[in-house]
Amino acid sequence: MPLLFDIKRYALNDGPGIRITVFFKGCPLSCIWCHNPEGIAPHPQKLYTAKRCIGCRSCIDACPAYALTVATAGIVTNPMLCTVCGQCVEACPTKAMEISGRKYKAEKIMKEIEKEIPFMDQSGGGVTFCGGEPLMQPTALADLLVRCGRLDLHRTVDTSLYASPATLSTIIPETDLFLVDLKLIDSAKHRYYCGAPNEGILANIRTVSEARKPFTIRIPLIEGINADDENLQASARFLAELPTRPHSLQFLPYHDLGHSKHAKLGTLYNPDRHPMSVPSSDHLAHARSIFALYGIEASVG
Ligand code: SF4
Ligand code: SF4
Repeated sequence: MPLLFDIKRYALNDGPGIRITVFFKGCPLSCIWCHNPEGIAPHPQKLYTAKRCIGCRSCIDACPAYALTVATAGIVTNPMLCTVCGQCVEACPTKAMEISGRKYKAEKIMKEIEKEIPFMDQSGGGVTFCGGEPLMQPTALADLLVRCGRLDLHRTVDTSLYASPATLSTIIPETDLFLVDLKLIDSAKHRYYCGAPNEGILANIRTVSEARKPFTIRIPLIEGINADDENLQASARFLAELPTRPHSLQFLPYHDLGHSKHAKLGTLYNPDRHPMSVPSSDHLAHARSIFALYGIEASVG
Protein backbone atom coordinates (compact mmCIF):
# COMPACT_ATOMS: atom_id res chain seq x y z
CA MET A 1 0.00 0.00 0.00
CA PRO A 2 1.42 3.43 -0.88
CA LEU A 3 2.47 5.69 1.99
CA LEU A 4 1.18 9.19 1.20
CA PHE A 5 1.35 12.49 3.01
CA ASP A 6 -1.29 14.42 1.09
CA ILE A 7 -3.81 14.36 -1.73
CA LYS A 8 -4.58 17.84 -3.15
CA ARG A 9 -7.46 18.74 -5.42
CA TYR A 10 -7.64 21.63 -7.91
CA ALA A 11 -3.86 21.81 -8.36
CA LEU A 12 -2.99 24.27 -11.12
CA ASN A 13 0.82 24.11 -11.20
CA ASP A 14 1.47 20.38 -11.40
CA GLY A 15 0.95 19.82 -15.12
CA PRO A 16 -1.68 20.86 -17.68
CA GLY A 17 -5.22 21.80 -16.64
CA ILE A 18 -6.83 21.17 -13.27
CA ARG A 19 -5.23 18.20 -11.52
CA ILE A 20 -5.42 16.03 -8.48
CA THR A 21 -1.96 15.64 -6.94
CA VAL A 22 -0.97 12.59 -4.91
CA PHE A 23 2.03 13.08 -2.59
CA PHE A 24 4.18 10.01 -1.91
CA LYS A 25 6.06 10.07 1.39
CA GLY A 26 9.79 9.33 1.38
CA CYS A 27 12.61 10.95 -0.60
CA PRO A 28 16.21 9.76 -1.09
CA LEU A 29 17.41 13.38 -1.35
CA SER A 30 17.55 15.98 1.41
CA CYS A 31 17.88 19.34 -0.39
CA ILE A 32 18.58 22.01 2.18
CA TRP A 33 15.87 24.30 0.74
CA CYS A 34 13.17 21.57 0.61
CA HIS A 35 9.71 23.11 1.03
CA ASN A 36 8.08 19.75 1.84
CA PRO A 37 10.39 18.37 4.56
CA GLU A 38 7.49 16.29 5.91
CA GLY A 39 7.80 14.30 2.65
CA ILE A 40 11.40 13.20 3.22
CA ALA A 41 11.21 10.47 5.90
CA PRO A 42 9.75 7.21 4.54
CA HIS A 43 7.56 6.65 7.59
CA PRO A 44 4.70 8.46 9.40
CA GLN A 45 5.71 11.46 11.54
CA LYS A 46 3.98 13.62 14.09
CA LEU A 47 3.66 17.37 13.49
CA TYR A 48 2.92 20.00 16.11
CA THR A 49 1.80 23.58 15.36
CA ALA A 50 2.44 25.64 18.48
CA LYS A 51 0.32 28.61 17.38
CA ARG A 52 -2.78 26.38 17.16
CA CYS A 53 -2.26 24.94 20.65
CA ILE A 54 -4.63 26.23 23.37
CA GLY A 55 -2.82 24.38 26.15
CA CYS A 56 -5.75 22.12 27.09
CA ARG A 57 -3.44 19.12 27.68
CA SER A 58 -5.93 16.63 26.21
CA CYS A 59 -3.06 15.17 24.16
CA ILE A 60 -1.01 14.47 27.31
CA ASP A 61 -3.95 12.67 28.92
CA ALA A 62 -4.51 10.64 25.74
CA CYS A 63 -0.93 9.51 25.16
CA PRO A 64 -0.49 5.85 26.21
CA ALA A 65 3.31 6.11 25.91
CA TYR A 66 3.78 9.07 28.30
CA ALA A 67 5.68 10.75 25.44
CA LEU A 68 4.31 14.29 25.88
CA THR A 69 5.33 17.03 28.30
CA VAL A 70 4.68 20.77 28.59
CA ALA A 71 7.47 23.30 28.05
CA THR A 72 7.49 27.09 27.57
CA ALA A 73 7.35 26.62 23.78
CA GLY A 74 4.29 24.34 24.06
CA ILE A 75 3.91 20.57 23.99
CA VAL A 76 7.12 18.58 23.53
CA THR A 77 7.23 15.02 22.18
CA ASN A 78 9.89 12.59 23.33
CA PRO A 79 10.74 10.80 20.05
CA MET A 80 12.24 7.88 21.99
CA LEU A 81 8.83 7.11 23.48
CA CYS A 82 6.40 8.20 20.73
CA THR A 83 5.08 5.30 18.62
CA VAL A 84 3.17 7.65 16.25
CA CYS A 85 -0.07 5.92 17.29
CA GLY A 86 -2.11 9.07 16.58
CA GLN A 87 -4.14 9.10 19.82
CA CYS A 88 -2.98 12.63 20.66
CA VAL A 89 -4.16 13.74 17.20
CA GLU A 90 -7.61 12.30 17.88
CA ALA A 91 -7.73 14.06 21.24
CA CYS A 92 -6.55 17.47 20.06
CA PRO A 93 -9.51 19.86 19.54
CA THR A 94 -7.58 22.39 17.42
CA LYS A 95 -5.55 20.21 15.01
CA ALA A 96 -2.34 21.40 16.65
CA MET A 97 -1.27 17.74 16.54
CA GLU A 98 -1.21 16.01 13.16
CA ILE A 99 0.27 12.89 11.61
CA SER A 100 2.03 13.16 8.26
CA GLY A 101 2.07 9.85 6.39
CA ARG A 102 -0.69 7.27 6.01
CA LYS A 103 -0.96 4.03 4.09
CA TYR A 104 -3.80 4.14 1.55
CA LYS A 105 -5.32 1.28 -0.40
CA ALA A 106 -4.99 1.82 -4.13
CA GLU A 107 -8.78 1.50 -4.45
CA LYS A 108 -9.28 4.38 -1.99
CA ILE A 109 -6.83 6.61 -3.91
CA MET A 110 -8.58 5.76 -7.18
CA LYS A 111 -11.94 6.70 -5.65
CA GLU A 112 -10.54 10.12 -4.76
CA ILE A 113 -9.10 10.48 -8.26
CA GLU A 114 -12.33 9.43 -9.98
CA LYS A 115 -14.30 12.14 -8.12
CA GLU A 116 -12.19 14.73 -9.97
CA ILE A 117 -12.73 13.38 -13.50
CA PRO A 118 -15.34 16.06 -14.46
CA PHE A 119 -12.79 18.84 -13.65
CA MET A 120 -10.04 17.03 -15.53
CA ASP A 121 -12.26 16.54 -18.57
CA GLN A 122 -13.30 20.19 -18.67
CA SER A 123 -9.79 21.58 -18.23
CA GLY A 124 -7.55 19.08 -20.02
CA GLY A 125 -6.13 18.12 -16.63
CA GLY A 126 -5.27 14.82 -15.01
CA VAL A 127 -3.41 13.20 -12.15
CA THR A 128 0.04 14.14 -10.85
CA PHE A 129 2.12 11.87 -8.65
CA CYS A 130 4.75 13.74 -6.66
CA GLY A 131 6.39 13.65 -3.25
CA GLY A 132 8.70 13.25 -1.54
CA GLU A 133 9.83 11.09 -4.40
CA PRO A 134 7.21 8.90 -6.07
CA LEU A 135 9.88 6.66 -7.66
CA MET A 136 10.84 5.55 -4.14
CA GLN A 137 7.65 3.45 -4.11
CA PRO A 138 7.87 2.11 -7.66
CA THR A 139 5.47 -0.83 -7.40
CA ALA A 140 2.69 1.27 -5.88
CA LEU A 141 3.35 4.09 -8.35
CA ALA A 142 3.29 1.77 -11.38
CA ASP A 143 0.04 0.21 -10.15
CA LEU A 144 -1.66 3.62 -9.82
CA LEU A 145 -0.34 4.75 -13.21
CA VAL A 146 -1.76 1.63 -14.85
CA ARG A 147 -5.13 2.11 -13.11
CA CYS A 148 -5.27 5.76 -14.27
CA GLY A 149 -4.24 4.69 -17.77
CA ARG A 150 -7.20 2.32 -17.94
CA LEU A 151 -9.46 5.34 -17.30
CA ASP A 152 -7.61 7.27 -20.02
CA LEU A 153 -6.48 9.95 -17.53
CA HIS A 154 -3.46 12.16 -18.23
CA ARG A 155 -0.64 11.01 -15.92
CA THR A 156 2.20 13.26 -14.77
CA VAL A 157 5.09 12.15 -12.57
CA ASP A 158 6.87 14.96 -10.71
CA THR A 159 10.27 13.55 -9.78
CA SER A 160 13.95 14.20 -9.11
CA LEU A 161 14.70 11.07 -11.23
CA TYR A 162 17.00 9.86 -8.48
CA ALA A 163 16.17 6.18 -9.06
CA SER A 164 17.66 3.09 -10.67
CA PRO A 165 17.40 2.73 -14.46
CA ALA A 166 15.37 -0.45 -13.87
CA THR A 167 12.80 1.48 -11.82
CA LEU A 168 12.56 4.24 -14.40
CA SER A 169 12.05 1.72 -17.21
CA THR A 170 8.88 0.42 -15.51
CA ILE A 171 7.47 3.94 -15.10
CA ILE A 172 8.22 5.48 -18.52
CA PRO A 173 5.62 3.52 -20.54
CA GLU A 174 2.85 4.46 -18.09
CA THR A 175 3.67 8.19 -17.86
CA ASP A 176 2.41 10.94 -20.18
CA LEU A 177 4.52 13.81 -18.82
CA PHE A 178 7.52 14.03 -16.49
CA LEU A 179 8.19 17.13 -14.38
CA VAL A 180 11.86 16.89 -13.49
CA ASP A 181 13.81 19.07 -11.06
CA LEU A 182 17.31 19.95 -12.24
CA LYS A 183 19.10 21.46 -9.28
CA LEU A 184 22.85 21.41 -9.91
CA ILE A 185 25.07 20.02 -12.67
CA ASP A 186 28.22 19.62 -10.56
CA SER A 187 27.87 16.26 -8.81
CA ALA A 188 30.01 17.15 -5.78
CA LYS A 189 27.87 20.25 -5.13
CA HIS A 190 24.72 18.19 -5.68
CA ARG A 191 25.92 15.71 -3.08
CA TYR A 192 26.74 18.55 -0.68
CA TYR A 193 23.43 20.42 -0.97
CA CYS A 194 21.05 17.55 -1.80
CA GLY A 195 22.64 14.58 -0.02
CA ALA A 196 23.40 12.45 -3.09
CA PRO A 197 25.42 12.63 -6.34
CA ASN A 198 23.64 13.40 -9.61
CA GLU A 199 25.24 11.23 -12.32
CA GLY A 200 22.26 8.84 -12.16
CA ILE A 201 19.79 11.75 -12.38
CA LEU A 202 21.47 13.17 -15.50
CA ALA A 203 21.57 9.69 -17.09
CA ASN A 204 17.86 9.23 -16.32
CA ILE A 205 16.98 12.62 -17.88
CA ARG A 206 18.78 11.41 -21.00
CA THR A 207 16.79 8.14 -20.89
CA VAL A 208 13.47 10.04 -20.70
CA SER A 209 14.59 12.24 -23.59
CA GLU A 210 15.67 9.21 -25.67
CA ALA A 211 12.29 7.60 -25.01
CA ARG A 212 10.75 10.75 -26.56
CA LYS A 213 8.50 11.24 -23.57
CA PRO A 214 7.36 14.83 -22.98
CA PHE A 215 9.25 16.32 -20.03
CA THR A 216 9.39 19.69 -18.35
CA ILE A 217 12.53 20.76 -16.54
CA ARG A 218 12.10 22.85 -13.40
CA ILE A 219 15.10 24.62 -11.90
CA PRO A 220 14.66 25.89 -8.34
CA LEU A 221 16.72 29.06 -8.72
CA ILE A 222 18.52 29.93 -5.49
CA GLU A 223 20.99 32.77 -5.14
CA GLY A 224 23.97 31.37 -3.24
CA ILE A 225 23.46 27.75 -4.42
CA ASN A 226 22.86 27.33 -8.16
CA ALA A 227 22.12 30.73 -9.74
CA ASP A 228 25.75 31.33 -10.83
CA ASP A 229 26.63 31.56 -14.52
CA GLU A 230 28.76 28.41 -14.40
CA ASN A 231 25.86 26.22 -13.26
CA LEU A 232 23.31 27.92 -15.55
CA GLN A 233 25.54 27.53 -18.60
CA ALA A 234 26.33 23.89 -17.78
CA SER A 235 22.59 23.18 -17.28
CA ALA A 236 21.64 24.84 -20.58
CA ARG A 237 24.43 22.98 -22.43
CA PHE A 238 23.35 19.64 -20.93
CA LEU A 239 19.72 20.16 -21.98
CA ALA A 240 20.63 21.48 -25.43
CA GLU A 241 22.65 18.33 -26.14
CA LEU A 242 19.84 15.90 -25.29
CA PRO A 243 18.29 13.89 -28.14
CA THR A 244 14.96 15.69 -27.57
CA ARG A 245 14.61 19.04 -25.83
CA PRO A 246 12.39 19.56 -22.78
CA HIS A 247 8.79 20.35 -23.54
CA SER A 248 9.27 23.51 -21.42
CA LEU A 249 11.68 24.92 -18.85
CA GLN A 250 10.67 26.81 -15.74
CA PHE A 251 12.69 28.65 -13.13
CA LEU A 252 11.17 28.37 -9.67
CA PRO A 253 12.58 31.29 -7.65
CA TYR A 254 13.63 30.40 -4.10
CA HIS A 255 11.24 30.74 -1.18
CA ASP A 256 11.66 29.62 2.41
CA LEU A 257 8.27 27.95 3.02
CA GLY A 258 10.14 24.95 4.43
CA HIS A 259 10.90 27.02 7.54
CA SER A 260 7.48 26.66 9.18
CA LYS A 261 7.20 22.99 8.25
CA HIS A 262 10.54 22.22 9.91
CA ALA A 263 9.20 23.96 13.02
CA LYS A 264 6.17 21.60 13.00
CA LEU A 265 8.47 18.59 12.68
CA GLY A 266 10.70 19.88 15.48
CA THR A 267 13.69 20.02 13.08
CA LEU A 268 15.83 22.93 11.89
CA TYR A 269 15.63 24.56 8.45
CA ASN A 270 19.07 25.00 6.87
CA PRO A 271 20.93 24.13 10.10
CA ASP A 272 24.34 25.05 8.66
CA ARG A 273 23.01 28.50 7.67
CA HIS A 274 24.05 28.42 4.03
CA PRO A 275 23.25 31.84 2.55
CA MET A 276 20.24 31.40 0.24
CA SER A 277 18.17 34.17 -1.29
CA VAL A 278 15.60 35.00 -3.95
CA PRO A 279 17.15 35.97 -7.31
CA SER A 280 16.34 39.51 -8.43
CA SER A 281 14.22 40.11 -11.54
CA ASP A 282 17.42 41.24 -13.33
CA HIS A 283 19.08 37.98 -12.39
CA LEU A 284 16.09 35.97 -13.64
CA ALA A 285 16.23 37.86 -16.95
CA HIS A 286 19.97 37.13 -17.14
CA ALA A 287 19.34 33.41 -16.44
CA ARG A 288 16.72 33.31 -19.20
CA SER A 289 19.16 34.95 -21.61
CA ILE A 290 21.75 32.22 -20.91
CA PHE A 291 19.24 29.51 -21.85
CA ALA A 292 18.13 31.52 -24.90
CA LEU A 293 21.74 31.37 -26.18
CA TYR A 294 21.28 27.58 -26.31
CA GLY A 295 17.89 27.89 -28.03
CA ILE A 296 15.88 27.08 -24.89
CA GLU A 297 13.06 29.39 -23.84
CA ALA A 298 12.67 29.56 -20.07
CA SER A 299 9.71 30.89 -18.11
CA VAL A 300 9.40 31.82 -14.45
CA GLY A 301 6.97 29.64 -12.48
S1 SF4 B 1 1.40 9.73 18.55
FE1 SF4 B 1 0.76 8.33 20.22
S2 SF4 B 1 2.67 7.88 21.31
FE2 SF4 B 1 3.09 9.66 20.04
S3 SF4 B 1 2.72 11.41 21.36
FE3 SF4 B 1 0.81 11.03 20.25
S4 SF4 B 1 -0.38 9.66 21.59
FE4 SF4 B 1 1.74 9.65 22.33
S1 SF4 C 1 -4.60 18.66 22.78
FE1 SF4 C 1 -3.93 20.05 21.13
S2 SF4 C 1 -4.52 22.08 21.87
FE2 SF4 C 1 -4.60 20.72 23.66
S3 SF4 C 1 -2.54 20.92 24.59
FE3 SF4 C 1 -2.44 19.18 23.19
S4 SF4 C 1 -1.71 20.07 21.26
FE4 SF4 C 1 -2.40 21.77 22.52
